[in-house]
Amino acid sequence: MVVVAHEMSHGLHDDARASINKQLVLSGLLIEVLGEHTNAGSVIMALVTYNYIVQRGFTLPHEVRADEDSFRYIASIGGNVRAPAALWARVADKLGERPSGGILGEILNPNNHPSTT
Ligand SMILES: [Zn+2]
Repeated sequence: MVVVAHEMSHGLHDDARASINKQLVLSGLLIEVLGEHTNAGSVIMALVTYNYIVQRGFTLPHEVRADEDSFRYIASIGGNVRAPAALWARVADKLGERPSGGILGEILNPNNHPSTT
């Protein structure tokens, strides 16, 4: 329920539109930077860079607000706001720290939420 409430906050605050505006600006910059240097290597590097930047998506302030909103939404319907924290603590205990995909994994398949650490 907390994940749905978190995503509802992103939707209600139109966070995706801010991300799309960022994509449009980056597309324009990409075209300017590439100019006439459009060999396969430069295009691939430009697309990987573009993908990395765009996939970072929401900003940390968006995430903090979405988390705060999600708890407010759950509390407003009488839900248990302590349950999500307890659940994630159990998941962390079971899984422990998971290794990241390294720098290559981060570039090719970046997380669309900013790190909180
Ligand atoms: Zn989020």
